[in-house]
Amino acid sequence: MNNQPLILIVEDDEGISNFISAILTSNNYNVMKTAKGKEAVSVVASYCPDLILLDLGLADMDGIEVLKAIRQWTSIPIVVVSARGHERDKVEALDLGADDYITKPFGTSELLARIRTELRHSQKNSLGHALEAEKIAVGELEINYLKRRVSVAGKEIHLTPIEYKIIVLLSKYIGRVLTHDFIMKEIWGPYTNEIQALRVNMANIRRKLEANPAEPIYIVTEVGVGYRMVEEFK
Ligand code: CA
Repeated sequence: MNNQPLILIVEDDEGISNFISAILTSNNYNVMKTAKGKEAVSVVASYCPDLILLDLGLADMDGIEVLKAIRQWTSIPIVVVSARGHERDKVEALDLGADDYITKPFGTSELLARIRTELRHSQKNSLGHALEAEKIAVGELEINYLKRRVSVAGKEIHLTPIEYKIIVLLSKYIGRVLTHDFIMKEIWGPYTNEIQALRVNMANIRRKLEANPAEPIYIVTEVGVGYRMVEEFK
């Protein structure tokens, strides 16, 4: 093994597991594989991988149970790999502490982008808040936290306090999907169900931010799950 990040693949479909493994190896990651949930939990404890790709549909154990078990003692990034159309599983996994998800079938570049995002986030977290940036830029969008100023192509965007809060929240988790529930709790507090307000605010944000609000490039919708601020432009 080299000193590159170690990624654990938990997947009981051998074809998919080998496919992912080949992609990761050719991108210089170290890889460990297991098809069993139980074994995954013990491998995580003994090898401390830098990231886990976790299939939810395992033969011996529900992937959700694996997630719960691992989350009891470590915050290591977990990206859930799930079948298309299983939005409720994805939301449950995210709410139980998964960091992101990728839907089968997925492309190589999408998988690698998710992994880079998670590794960056976990590095940032271990450095603490001292190095927190005063601003963030993605494409032509810039958010200056210090000045509380949002601009696109240098032109200032006027936002309501709630719209600003939502943008800041998404940008703090840039590249990651945030569930509706998570965003609502962060913005309106734990006892509200402001899904309609969230949708209205998001529509307003897009109208102000996006050249074409129907095809947003900065904040994308994850159907049935939530929203994601895009981190890497192709
Ligand atoms: Ca499976």
